[in-house]
Amino acid sequence: MGFEGVALTATGSNTVYLQAIGEADIVLRILNLSAASELERLKQCDRCSKWLYAERSHQRFCPGGECRKAKYAESPKYKEYRKQYMRRQRKRQAAEQSKKPLQVKHNDDRP
Ligand SMILES: [Zn+2]
Repeated sequence: MGFEGVALTATGSNTVYLQAIGEADIVLRILNLSAASELERLKQCDRCSKWLYAERSHQRFCPGGECRKAKYAESPKYKEYRKQYMRRQRKRQAAEQSKKPLQVKHNDDRP
């Protein structure tokens, strides 16, 4: 076992000092790392500033997506995207309209 002869000393803070080098040291580094990332997951929503626990590390808003959508809809990036999207839609519709006369059925194959 890699843990034999390893002394762990808990100090006043959350830091734990390991007085040995080896497998246990690596395990402890990972544990500290995960503890730090757990803390990083405690965040304030970018929109309403409520505290939240991020399910994913990049989560910035309340769960449910309401704040995320609301924030995104306010952004200039979204407004620009929306503008482009509407422009494309209008173009597409215009193209569809101009195609329509070609889709008229012919009755040539009737007896
Ligand atoms: Zn929120």
